[in-house]
Amino acid sequence: MIDKKGILFILSGPSGVGKGTVRKALFDQATDLQYSISVTTRKPRNGEKHGVDYFFHEKEEVEKMIEQNKLLEWAEYVGNYYGTPREYVEETLDSGKDVFLEIEVQGALQVKDNFPEGVFIFLFPPSLEELKNRIINRGTESEDLVRNRLLAAKEEIEMMEAYDYVVVNDEVNHAVEKINSIVQAEHCNRERI
Ligand code: 5GP
Repeated sequence: MIDKKGILFILSGPSGVGKGTVRKALFDQATDLQYSISVTTRKPRNGEKHGVDYFFHEKEEVEKMIEQNKLLEWAEYVGNYYGTPREYVEETLDSGKDVFLEIEVQGALQVKDNFPEGVFIFLFPPSLEELKNRIINRGTESEDLVRNRLLAAKEEIEMMEAYDYVVVNDEVNHAVEKINSIVQAEHCNRERI
């Protein structure tokens, strides 16, 4: 077997589908995946920590990173910037380790342009009604934000075609199992290269 670069896995999907919950459950288990912590201009929610959940930055700082091409992808999402630090991803992949991104759809499509060999996983809600309830029940956001997130979710679902895998998030543990299976399958698939 030839030693090679790590694999880039991208978990994406509509707002409210539970990407964050699934990602946390995945990383609560032993895993060889390396999570890429994003930068954001959003304010921390209760319990969130700088350098753990996100790198929380001011708008000007993130704009500077964009200008200096320090982000592999970025998106403006419901009034805030979110982005993936380029250096961490590239260095980790070069060292042979797999990197895992959990990002929204616009960003995932940018990654696809730069890393077509990445593995794109679309997390899908059990039903659209369920998705709506999840966004409403999150309870940390104003009515306007909820409305915007619902609108964004509709547009995001239309992008499903661009992905390699669809994982229905009926139960967090099932979704995690399926993602682990995808990771294994992709390693088996690349053994012969
Ligand atoms: P939240 O504010 O709920 O933590 O995240 C909002 C959305 O931003 C989620 O869909 C999350 O997956 C996405 N997100 C988190 N980090 C990034 C990133 O680095 N880039 C992009 N494009 N989206 C991100």
